[in-house]
Amino acid sequence: MKQMMKTFAALGMLLLLAGMGSAASCEYSYDAPEEWGTVCNAPLCNQTMGAQSPIDLMPTATVATAAAIHPIYGSASGLEVENKGHTIQVSYNASTMFRIESTALGATRKVLQLHFHTPSEHTVNGMHYPLEMHVVHADASNNLAVLGIFFETSSMTSPLLQSVVANADDLAAKGDKAMASLDLTEVSKAGLSYWSYPGSLTTPPCSEGVSWMVLQSPLKASQAQIDAIEAIIGKSNRPTQPLAGRSVSSYRAPAAAAMSSNSMAAAMAADSDDDDSSATAGAALSGVNLALLVIMMTGLTVAVVVFGIRLQYITRLLLSLGAEVETAKPAAAKKSKGKGKKKGTLFWSDSTDTDEATDARTGLSYDESDEESS
Ligand SMILES: [Zn+2]
Repeated sequence: MKQMMKTFAALGMLLLLAGMGSAASCEYSYDAPEEWGTVCNAPLCNQTMGAQSPIDLMPTATVATAAAIHPIYGSASGLEVENKGHTIQVSYNASTMFRIESTALGATRKVLQLHFHTPSEHTVNGMHYPLEMHVVHADASNNLAVLGIFFETSSMTSPLLQSVVANADDLAAKGDKAMASLDLTEVSKAGLSYWSYPGSLTTPPCSEGVSWMVLQSPLKASQAQIDAIEAIIGKSNRPTQPLAGRSVSSYRAPAAAAMSSNSMAAAMAADSDDDDSSATAGAALSGVNLALLVIMMTGLTVAVVVFGIRLQYITRLLLSLGAEVETAKPAAAKKSKGKGKKKGTLFWSDSTDTDEATDARTGLSYDESDEESS
């Protein structure tokens, strides 16, 4: 019974979030958001001094430090995807274990659904991204927390978006449904630095009390993917709302923390032209490992070659002096160190080489960890 009540509560919230609770009598338009309060009988949508969303995020104006967030996401199949009219929504059932945790949120909040807006609803210094995804979470008392994730246009395709875009033909009209598999761990590629502020639903009834968390680094998606979603949902961003005395706090994730979240492999596979993201940390780290391996292998090869050349040289020298080859060999190995150093260039000693490789490794790994923690 309790489970049933919870399911009903979750369903109710889904309807509310999608603006479907009043959809029959409320055909709101993004061309006239100033009419939402009247059209939908939702006075909160009209208030300018409340705690409404979205807002313009200005990194220099953040005044407080937020606590870290821990999205515990994974891959799921058999998810219902629906064209809701103004958005495409992917719904999670009540038994999902995917959730977000933070001391700032108190109780764990489970993933209810995710959906999209084109262009982004939140702006950064007044600039829109072409797409924003909202992952909606709720605790047992239906306190909402929404994680906003920007997408920027890139040469890379987003696996997460692709799982939705692949169903585009089946989602052309409002009410159309499809099934999809979706891996939410891709979210961690953006790193977990975020802004947070108290806000509202961005669709009627514009209910307040929503904990907003917006990731500071965007994910990447191809133009074709963004176009495919925009072609279905159209312009679907509510204009930014006045801050009205609210403060925005910011959390800067250490690179190491971002790396340990969900998918290191995915982060390492990501390209590295994104300064802030954990993907960069992953790529840089694997780059350093590769560089070390190359340095060590090169060092070893040079050592073997040089040692070989030196033996030949000494042997020839000793032969020319009339010494016995058999007795000269061990002596040559000992002598070579001194001779090698005097001759320079070609005649590095093995031990010097090994030391250099070690130094290089130590130096590089210290440099890297310094960079990461700054
Ligand atoms: Zn939304």
